[in-house]
Amino acid sequence: MKANNKKIRNDIILICILCVTAAVACFFLYFKADNAEKMQLQILIDGELIETYDYSTDEDFYKEIALDIGNTIVVENGQIYMKEANCPDGLCIKQGEISKDGQSIICLPHKLVVRLVELSRDNFSENDGLDVMPR
Ligand SMILES: [Zn+2]
Repeated sequence: MKANNKKIRNDIILICILCVTAAVACFFLYFKADNAEKMQLQILIDGELIETYDYSTDEDFYKEIALDIGNTIVVENGQIYMKEANCPDGLCIKQGEISKDGQSIICLPHKLVVRLVELSRDNFSENDGLDVMPR
């Protein structure tokens, strides 16, 4: 009877160790995958950060952002481009598509910068949900 109890206890300890190992592995995999895709579309006017949007490379992701200053930005198939602009030179439309960290579209007449930034974990705000995760 005593030996049997010990065996059960050993089994429970083993199961616990396996569970913890699996949980830790999932935890790291989750953040690794999450970090790789964490890109943000930032809109700056006159050097000031006006708006930020989550950037997605999903094929069926579509977003149209119409700004008061007369520029319309589109996110489509993981590509960001200036769809419409009422600026005199129209150069921002000609700049084409961006999809990589650090790339930007600039509309000089409107002092507008549309840029794509990869967020490191250090840049995460306190409200991004990480705080509820076990550490
Ligand atoms: Zn322009």
